[in-house]
Amino acid sequence: MRRRLLLAFVLLLSLSALSSADIRGRMDPKVGDQIYVCNMGETCPCDTMAMKPGVCKCGKELIQTNVIKIEDESIYVASRKRGFDRVGKYACACGESCNCGTISKKLGKCVCGTEMKEVEGD
Ligand SMILES: [Zn+2]
Ligand SMILES: [Zn+2]
Repeated sequence: MRRRLLLAFVLLLSLSALSSADIRGRMDPKVGDQIYVCNMGETCPCDTMAMKPGVCKCGKELIQTNVIKIEDESIYVASRKRGFDRVGKYACACGESCNCGTISKKLGKCVCGTEMKEVEGD
């Protein structure tokens, strides 16, 4: 009984997370798509990705690159060996009209210059 209640609760939670998805913390590109990513090198933990050019949290210009592989929860691009986590901790909070799609592991501004919001349900 307890178990079933818990299950129902989890289901409800995931449902509400889906419906309140005004902050998209997930990148969904296809292989071959051009995206903009952090250009700080293999060790940069910000994992910033966006659909538009701009500056990553670390203050460097994002580099335009191609998606070469998508595996599990990682997006691999031509500009970096290590994959980018496709789910960010923070995401563009500009609202529905914004299609910059910025996600990052670090709090900062999206490429439009608006403060990002923490992605919920993590
Ligand atoms: Zn960076
Ligand atoms: Zn934005």
